[in-house]
Amino acid sequence: MEIRNNSDVPSDIKNQEEKSPHERFRDSKSLSVTDFSSLAWCELQQHYFFIAGGRKETLAMKIGSEIHNKLELQEHDIISIPTHTKEDIWGIKLYNLIFGIDSLFINLKTRELPIFGFVSGLFVFGIIDQIEMKPVFDDISRDELVISDTKTRTKQYIPKYVPPSVKFQLMLYKKLFDELVQGTFDEMKIFQTLDLNPDLEFSKELANIVNISYKEKEMKEFKPNLRNLMKVVINSFGKVWKSCNILEVNYKFQKDGSDLGSKYFDYDENQLDNYLEKTVKYWKGDRKPEGVPIEDAWKCQNCEFADNCEWRLNKIKEREQNKRALLEIT
Ligand code: SF4
Repeated sequence: MEIRNNSDVPSDIKNQEEKSPHERFRDSKSLSVTDFSSLAWCELQQHYFFIAGGRKETLAMKIGSEIHNKLELQEHDIISIPTHTKEDIWGIKLYNLIFGIDSLFINLKTRELPIFGFVSGLFVFGIIDQIEMKPVFDDISRDELVISDTKTRTKQYIPKYVPPSVKFQLMLYKKLFDELVQGTFDEMKIFQTLDLNPDLEFSKELANIVNISYKEKEMKEFKPNLRNLMKVVINSFGKVWKSCNILEVNYKFQKDGSDLGSKYFDYDENQLDNYLEKTVKYWKGDRKPEGVPIEDAWKCQNCEFADNCEWRLNKIKEREQNKRALLEIT
């Protein structure tokens, strides 16, 4: 990483640094669930990745997404259609959301379910790996919705603990899902935030699919646009009878995609709210990103930004000064 004297920084870069991370890296629009959860490892490292334009795709990430694709194809087919407007792009997301909720009713299982909502005024979007209706372990007469994320591992056993980033990811999915079930969201605020025209008709290819799927079922005057598709979304969630109460991380062996087992954990609303309050301040630019606390300094060993990380260099300097002070006293 290049470090420059502030007075030499060109004005366009200075302007960038004056912007909040939400304005600077996401154009003040949609944040993803992983934009929040990924900050749990080291905020500063994630911030450096944002400045660098994102993480480079590793072989492990590539294999992971191939395994995800295979799992998705076991549940449903995928068709590709061209998009011509940003309204088409969001139309496909809403269509897939309605399709996913329908699958949950019909097959008691759905994969790659789009989800969205607001966190302290910031619009957040994510894709849930899987939701499934399963019998409860200690009471097989009772069913629960299980929200699950699939992780791939190079080691052929499941880890002892679920990392905080994965816990926050799943807890935020649950929070957004529950809010959609409760129907408390404001669709006009979503269209305004994303700068979408809810009445613009979808392009021909998507309009045809939407018409075939919903015109007959929903209303005679159904126009294929975001406003009407959002009504179907609200209607679909209105039929969901419960929230997702079990959070699961399912592990697959990276080498052959075989199942290694799962870990489960409880939803902790306080823990999630505190985490979101902290990370929202970062995204809104109300505070600077933080490096890892001293007890997590082991994370710096494999960090590609370690040589120039200001946080780490300051901690080393502080430690040296403390050592000197100790010697002077003794
Ligand atoms: Fe975070 Fe350590 Fe990397 Fe700095 S060196 S970005 S503190 S992990």
